[in-house]
Amino acid sequence: MNIETLCVQAGYDPGKGEPMQPPITQSTTFKYETSAQMGSLFDLEESGYFYSRLANPTVDRVAEQIAILEGGVGALLLSCGQNANFLACLNICEAGDHMVSAIGLYGGTFNLFNTTFPKMGIEVTFVDQNASEEEIAAAFRPNTKLLFGETVTNPTVDVLDIEKFARVAHAHGVPLIVDNTFPTPVNCRPIEWGADIVTHSTTKYMDGHGVAIGGAIVDSGNFPWNHYAERYPGLCTPDESYHGLIYTDRFGKAAYITKINTQLMRDLGGVQSPQNAFYLHLGLQTLHLRMARHCESALKVARFLQAHPDVKWVSYPGLESDSQHEAAQKYMPKGSCGVMAFALKGGRDFAIKFMDSLRLITIETHVADCHTCVLHPASHTHRQLSDEQLRAAGVDPDLIRLSIGLEYADDILDDIQQAIDAAKK
Ligand SMILES: *Cc1c(COP(=O)(O)O)cnc(C)c1O
Repeated sequence: MNIETLCVQAGYDPGKGEPMQPPITQSTTFKYETSAQMGSLFDLEESGYFYSRLANPTVDRVAEQIAILEGGVGALLLSCGQNANFLACLNICEAGDHMVSAIGLYGGTFNLFNTTFPKMGIEVTFVDQNASEEEIAAAFRPNTKLLFGETVTNPTVDVLDIEKFARVAHAHGVPLIVDNTFPTPVNCRPIEWGADIVTHSTTKYMDGHGVAIGGAIVDSGNFPWNHYAERYPGLCTPDESYHGLIYTDRFGKAAYITKINTQLMRDLGGVQSPQNAFYLHLGLQTLHLRMARHCESALKVARFLQAHPDVKWVSYPGLESDSQHEAAQKYMPKGSCGVMAFALKGGRDFAIKFMDSLRLITIETHVADCHTCVLHPASHTHRQLSDEQLRAAGVDPDLIRLSIGLEYADDILDDIQQAIDAAKK
């Protein structure tokens, strides 16, 4: 079935007399008849619900839908996108290990990799994602466990060459993990291009209305962990916390995603709430319509900015002249997303005046929902970064991130124009 139909229907097939919208199972625990039944659940010999930190029917249905949308064998919903990226890496990395990441990253992910992971003994080497395969390969070490990138970077809107990254990762016997928050599976399905694990901040387009923080991890089931058993002992050797169970033996293609659920979420928590999963599901049912409109309006705004005499530059992969256009045509021919970056000729102070003069467009630490909003990363999300780190991440201190919502495009253009005029006064 096509992605549009899957957005509406995948993951839930009600029977006779059952609700058309999956109900919210607002319960922490579940009933069993015998002690033995409960015991076999704890031994992972049987599957079933017992405690909502680990699994809940509402949460599971929506996770299943996201797995189908991305073409994976399984998925989990997490409390937020940060937790999704954290657990996706921690599942195969521990103290003494190393990972390689593209440097074009969401600010929170950069801080996680650059500050918190090193404190936990996990070293991260950052690479320019537009570098050659040889240069990226040079960052690998014998203890490297994964390669990470964002399919469309936040806030610089660079498009990842997923096939190139997958080739380098697989040549070194490690999986490629990509954060697919911005394009969503409606516009790009990274597993089809070789990605092994896909993560999401469902807080963004998937929810789409700015109501619920959430994250997701999808496992393609394609990575051959057992070929590299020594590199991934957590998956390929006995887990003493489950009486010596070996994930790859017991769960096959779903070993990676099952281990996050049964081990990391057991020990660390971080599940999405049933209520938030319900909101997320509402969002998914219109994701295909919304993504098309976000992309259509964003292209219109990007063209307007490109032709504007007060605009220094605009970066949007949909523009024919954009350095990312070719990659975007290949990986996301229907469009990338509604987010773009641009700079005004007047510099940093003028940018601030411009933002303060906006009326319809709001200043928000958010992107990718139905409201058009702006943010100045150097003053907001990337505030902790030095100017040097900003430039290394490709974030010009003048850069304004603009996320095009679902308002009428001409109203957005009018607001931009009046704010530029007001900033000049
Ligand atoms: C927002 C975002 C995150 C973090 O997600 P939260 O849900 O805010 O924790 C991670 N990656 C990308 C690309 C994002 O845009």
